[in-house]
Amino acid sequence: MDPMSYYSDKKWCPQCAGYVAYLMSIEHSYCVECGGEVKLFNQTDWEIFHEGLQAKKPKGGRPRKKISTDRESA
Ligand SMILES: [Zn+2]
Repeated sequence: MDPMSYYSDKKWCPQCAGYVAYLMSIEHSYCVECGGEVKLFNQTDWEIFHEGLQAKKPKGGRPRKKISTDRESA
């Protein structure tokens, strides 16, 4: 299954802490389970999504998680 189609019919509900089926209204979408407002992504997925967008922009240095690299093979 294509992961994008998964996201297209489910949204993140912070109240249920999961991806849920939702009802769409004009401005917002609502969880069918709890009636709370749902978001397109949860925080982690949103950051991944954003990083993906930013990676497409030509930039000098890519901001990455600092991994200790001063351990050189001697
Ligand atoms: Zn919910």
